[in-house]
Amino acid sequence: MSAYMGKLLYINLSDKTSREMDLNPDLAKQFVGGKGFGAKILYDLLPPGCDPLSEQNILMFMPGPVTGTLAPAFRGCVVTKSPLTGTFADSYFGGHFAQEIRYCGYDGLIITGRAAEPSYLYISDGKVEFRTAAGIWGLDTFATVEAIRTDLGDDTVKTACIGPAGEKLVSFALINCEFNRHAGRAGTGAVMGSKNLKAVVLRGSKTVVPADPAGFAAAVDQAYRELVDDETINSFTVDGTAGSIDFANDEQLLPTHNYYNGQFEGASGLNAAAQRKHFWLRNVACAGCPIACGKVGLIKTGRHKLLVSDIVEYETASMVGSNLGISNVREVAYLVKKCDALGLDGMSAGGVAGFAIEAYQKGLITAEDTGGVELKFGDADAVNYLLEVIASRKGLGDLLARGVKAAAAELGGDAVAFAVHVKGLESPAWGPRSVPGMGLALATADRGGCHQRAFPILYECGGEWEGKPVDRLGTKGKGKIVAHLQNYLAALDTLVKCDFGQYGVKDVTYARLLETAVGEKYDVEKLMLLGERVWNQVRLFNLREGFTRADDTLPKRFTNEPLPEGPYAGARVSLEDLSLLLDEYYTARGWDLEGRPTAEKLNQLGLESLPKLINL
Ligand code: SF4
Repeated sequence: MSAYMGKLLYINLSDKTSREMDLNPDLAKQFVGGKGFGAKILYDLLPPGCDPLSEQNILMFMPGPVTGTLAPAFRGCVVTKSPLTGTFADSYFGGHFAQEIRYCGYDGLIITGRAAEPSYLYISDGKVEFRTAAGIWGLDTFATVEAIRTDLGDDTVKTACIGPAGEKLVSFALINCEFNRHAGRAGTGAVMGSKNLKAVVLRGSKTVVPADPAGFAAAVDQAYRELVDDETINSFTVDGTAGSIDFANDEQLLPTHNYYNGQFEGASGLNAAAQRKHFWLRNVACAGCPIACGKVGLIKTGRHKLLVSDIVEYETASMVGSNLGISNVREVAYLVKKCDALGLDGMSAGGVAGFAIEAYQKGLITAEDTGGVELKFGDADAVNYLLEVIASRKGLGDLLARGVKAAAAELGGDAVAFAVHVKGLESPAWGPRSVPGMGLALATADRGGCHQRAFPILYECGGEWEGKPVDRLGTKGKGKIVAHLQNYLAALDTLVKCDFGQYGVKDVTYARLLETAVGEKYDVEKLMLLGERVWNQVRLFNLREGFTRADDTLPKRFTNEPLPEGPYAGARVSLEDLSLLLDEYYTARGWDLEGRPTAEKLNQLGLESLPKLINL
């Protein structure tokens, strides 16, 4: 007995077939679930160089082995090849959809092919229906969920869907997995759109039974206690991640005016106090999560009065707020909700809009391109215009829909100097110029610039890691810290932990949850080895796609332009610094100095001659 359901569901949209595949025990043993399953299956099934928007690409929805149990703060992820970056992509979502995959009897959904016409999938326990989406193609994400519920006569089904942006193959389109939960990053929604797949709808009735029910219950109890006793976790319950606005602003990490600076004079208009004042009503949680970081809000005053909103979490408050010079949180809430409805990743949309405004200021985009709309920082109406043309790919929107990397290449001039991305993924809301370890984490993140693969900022600003002092502005020792954090988080992403839960739940507790769920001995050391295996497996995928050391880099804004003012004025991560960081990081990983895992390392991780663990 184990918490695995024992089956993966494979669906081919091209010929409308589906089949249940037995879960390979070696896949479970070596890769556990979530990101691990996605990494190995993508490597095994995808032909090298596959066009992400072709019918060959595969789109996976992967829970972990404890998702759907009483264990708190576990979720699901979407894994595919990204149309934005061309890399491996894993994008995480909360809500209830991942749990329902397990209740349908599966450890993951693997979708390939392309439907001949707009369609949606309805999976109900063992039954798979291919249904027409003709009546809902073009609807926004919220309307799509409602229309499907009406169509099925069931308002309790769990739905993952795309909006108009996904249908139009916008490179940073998201998949909506509930009112306020999304697989946001790296363009998973465009992959879904390329498959003519409007939605996946689930209804399941199975239960997940751990291998050691008593031991698992004790581990769950322990995890709950660690969460509710933790100060950081409690701050998420009270303020969500909006509490980070003040921290980032004080530390000069807050993206402002397309990352020109790291402090914003209007930060107090965006922070948790401002959000509380203007719209929070009550907390909401993903399935079984005691943290409940989400908020339902209602804008109480101003021109968007009575708009129902979610919390504007840190990343979008920054990318759509400070990064665009907007300090009115009600305007930001409106714009973020618009992103959600259209099916745009708010983080990338904020990055793209900041890039477009700066390009306009510098004359690379003109009023002729915008139909007379003036693009300027601080103007919410100009951003609203940009979101609409991007999602519909009209005019200038068609260029911007490809992301800042592609847009900068096409605009030419010095556009590449202010295109803020890593490997094509628009940077998250943590400017790294005064925290070089974070710069390294962004440069080496597997899906492009991402703060969720390692977050050394905590130690760089805190001045200590594992009892040893950390020099915030220095490079020494950062490679080892970043490699360690990446391995740990990759391990937890096989369980598909929520990012916030990891700040409370201890490593031994995660190991115990896994051990008692799947019935195999786990300690922290084995957990770390698992994470390292998964990280290397993803690296093998990206190397096979042609990525090299040269791609582990940072945007020119961070390497060439020092912070212009403030407490860390003059700080940047120069290319020389980055080179030192990379050398140390690759060495810590047991890779060669070109960033390739050595045969010895692959052998140690059991990857050197590992066969395919999935066969069609
Ligand atoms: S902390 Fe927030 S995002 Fe994470 S599982 Fe709980 S409610 Fe969901």
